[in-house]
Amino acid sequence: MIDLRSDTVTQPTSDMRKAMAAAEVGDDVYGDDPSVNRLQHLAAEMLGFEDALFTSSGTQANLLALMSHCGRGDEYICGQQAHNYKFEAGGAAVLGSIQPQPLANQADGTIALTEVVAAIKPDDIHFARTKLLSLENTIGGKVLPQHYLAEAQQLAFYHGLKIHLDGARIANAAVAQGLKIADIAQHFDSVSVCLSKGLCAPVGSLLLGDEHFIARARRWRKMLGGGMRQVGILAAAAEIALTQQVERLADDHANAQTLAAGLAQIDELAGSVEVHTNMVFANLPAALVPQLLVETLAEQGIRISAAKRLRLVTHNDVTAADVTKVIAAVKQFFAAQPK
Ligand SMILES: *Cc1c(COP(=O)(O)O)cnc(C)c1O
Repeated sequence: MIDLRSDTVTQPTSDMRKAMAAAEVGDDVYGDDPSVNRLQHLAAEMLGFEDALFTSSGTQANLLALMSHCGRGDEYICGQQAHNYKFEAGGAAVLGSIQPQPLANQADGTIALTEVVAAIKPDDIHFARTKLLSLENTIGGKVLPQHYLAEAQQLAFYHGLKIHLDGARIANAAVAQGLKIADIAQHFDSVSVCLSKGLCAPVGSLLLGDEHFIARARRWRKMLGGGMRQVGILAAAAEIALTQQVERLADDHANAQTLAAGLAQIDELAGSVEVHTNMVFANLPAALVPQLLVETLAEQGIRISAAKRLRLVTHNDVTAADVTKVIAAVKQFFAAQPK
């Protein structure tokens, strides 16, 4: 199967499986797991933070961040399209009693900083207390400009807010710009990173911040049931994600470019094809039932999600040859459609 639904479908590499089998482990709730401790130290150093925490998922890392920056009756400002607003089941509100203040994402994925300033509530008993600005990079595959991050950081500092990055795909953003991950992370008080997407680890994310912040997050993680025991089995794979998989993301980006160029040769898609890092987007014609394309491709061993706006994601298990095959299959599908 060529699976383009998401980079979450990546299989752990053979090096990861070997490292998992051989991992030294201990009880991480006691702080005893050497593989977890090594991963957390490595990540903190790599991203330029005092401390790091291994979490079961990106959703958990984001929730811990929101709950460690904000308390009951506080609010965070984020994008309407932010994962930690739209796609995390309302966890901040449900479990943290934290009010989201979503603002429109512009076409480039940023939130207009003038709108952020206007949304910061004055100290008044009518209002929730604005505590945090939360950004996402990449967002829908789009890389936020470095100068924007610097301006957002300054704004947050000036208004006494903390600033968090949902960096589920921060490594994609770094590689796309030829930067170190730390060059992006430097603009934030805290960052979450997914190891189980393009970086191929089977499970796990990281949350990074200063020592006190991570201590608070560790307590919330325990409360939420995320204190895991011999979890070095997973940390061993996660370490390889950080040490061996980051540079490789450039291949995913190149494959996405090739895929986008191929799809742009199809009349029905040509006007709407976009490519950002490892994601390719295109609008299906209004009259076409998406399921028809999904089923036709599935017969040829290609999996995509059913939607009017296609989102095809490249990753370690999609080769350049696979991309050629996908382009041919989609071309053939449209050639066979009644005009
Ligand atoms: C996938 C993703 C998450 C959540 O990660 P899970 O491990 O699936 O919980 C958070 N933020 C963004 C931007 C993501 O793409």
